[in-house]
Amino acid sequence: MGRIPDASIREIRSRVDIVDLVSRYVQLKKAGRNHTGLCPFHDEKTASFNVSPERQTFHCFGCQVGGDVFEFLTLHDNLTFPEAARSLARECGVEIPEESGDAEARGISERVFEANEIAQRVYVDQLASAEGEEARNYLARRGISDEDRRELGLGFAPDRWDTVTRALAQKKVEGSLGEQAGLLAPRKSGDGHYDRLRGRVTFPIYDVRRRIVGFGGRALGNDDGPKYLNTTESPVFRKRESFYGFPWALESIRRSRRAIVCEGYFDRIALHRAGIGEGLATCGTALTQEHGRNLRRRTQTAVLLFDGDQAGRNAMEKALEVLLPEGLRVRGALLPDGQDPDDFLTSKGPEALRALVDDAPDALELVIRRAVTAGVNTPAEKADAVAHVAPLLAVVADTVEREAYVRRLALATDSGEAAVAAIVRSTRQGRSATPEEAALSAPKPRREGPEERQLALLCHVLLRHPTLATPDLRGRIEASVPDDSWRRLALALVEAAAGGDVDADGAIDHFVLADRLEAEERTLLHATAAGAEALDPGARPELVAFDVLNWFERRGRARTRRQTTQRLREAGASQDPTALLAEKQRELDARRARAAAAKAAGVAQ
Ligand SMILES: [Zn+2]
Repeated sequence: MGRIPDASIREIRSRVDIVDLVSRYVQLKKAGRNHTGLCPFHDEKTASFNVSPERQTFHCFGCQVGGDVFEFLTLHDNLTFPEAARSLARECGVEIPEESGDAEARGISERVFEANEIAQRVYVDQLASAEGEEARNYLARRGISDEDRRELGLGFAPDRWDTVTRALAQKKVEGSLGEQAGLLAPRKSGDGHYDRLRGRVTFPIYDVRRRIVGFGGRALGNDDGPKYLNTTESPVFRKRESFYGFPWALESIRRSRRAIVCEGYFDRIALHRAGIGEGLATCGTALTQEHGRNLRRRTQTAVLLFDGDQAGRNAMEKALEVLLPEGLRVRGALLPDGQDPDDFLTSKGPEALRALVDDAPDALELVIRRAVTAGVNTPAEKADAVAHVAPLLAVVADTVEREAYVRRLALATDSGEAAVAAIVRSTRQGRSATPEEAALSAPKPRREGPEERQLALLCHVLLRHPTLATPDLRGRIEASVPDDSWRRLALALVEAAAGGDVDADGAIDHFVLADRLEAEERTLLHATAAGAEALDPGARPELVAFDVLNWFERRGRARTRRQTTQRLREAGASQDPTALLAEKQRELDARRARAAAAKAAGVAQ
């Protein structure tokens, strides 16, 4: 990639405001001269991430990352410096002389975005064409005006095999790139590609920076294929964390201090039509922990807009399992049985939809009420109701809130508060650290000894802070840590860090890594990813890694010493026993002195 002139860099720096940039990803609060929020680079529940508008820099007191607008973007979006610079330049209108046209040198992500842009133009043109009439009629029937259609960038993928395939070829984009972008599929014959989305209305899915990451498609006919189909995951499209609704929702989320989460493209559009901008829809998956984190960085309140039937209520409880541990306050707006937001909007009007969302009750309260409705007359029924709700209360991140819900549940089921509290506590201790882990029903990793505990800590920090994985660290692990599955996991993490297998949060992408591991290491990896061995707040990851390796190296030295003594003893039947005793005594004194010094310094031995 061509060098970017210093003058352009300076120009970008003067035009881009770091508070604006960071605010797209992190909910910032003004605190004195600075702004603070939850760090996007490590997992935290209390804000230690600081942005200084005066200095135009950011710094995290938790994980010690920091820098200017360029560093923020390179870290956050996993871009190279030139990619970040070009991306910012485009946004703020700074001209950077084009590089020598060497497509190969440009990042794969950039090229995937370009392929998506080409596809978007095709889809939009097709919707406006004669062939798009049926699709236009379909959208009109669903209450979507031409204006909405244009604003939302809706399009149409004709029922042909090669619409996008040809358009990409015309623009000299290889089929293999279209395949990587998730737009095309390879022909079975191994010769060429065909369009994935056919005969569908298309929804462009953007990231927060207004770049198209992928497409959703709604079938026009009911005859064949799934009703909804998305382009496949790509280097820029991860369904586990993507939402349909960005970037438009950002401004509304900031203003209204909440995000409304719904389940489909048309739900999100219904909110938009009702003048509610903060709607976000998942893209063909249930809500995941990654979605939860994505939301938590922007707001503290999530309103779930779900169907009021059995399935919708179950989905709401599932969503709570992943949102509550992230510290989100969740409210539940349940639609009347059998209606989706679209129907509701059509039959009741925008004001009613807005009221439904504005007046949404606390979601946990809804779960408690639902459990009570099932009956709490007999002791067995009470126990069932408490057992049903306890796992959700157990994941409420804030202690005070959790205790308030415990009181509420005890009251609602007419049970003793101490008994309910005990059940929630034991659920908390006994549960796998995340629903994701529970879903994998991973066997509990053995972690009885101090060695396992130390290694679990090391893996914990390596997973979240891959920059710590230096060759020096690898050497120290290899030299001092005895071989077992934890050590193999630690080395696999170091290798993954070196190979750049990093996710959008700057942590090792454990889904990618898991595929390469044996079952035992994979179990340990999932436990590590689930945060089972969470650090003390304020613990500095680089110090944790350092301490763990020191611990092993100390043990190694102690072992050597014991072996020396052993050898001395075996060889020294002829040796002077007083000299040997004096030697042992000196060793013991030295060890006591070290222990006392360490204790005084407050270091755990
Ligand atoms: Zn941090």
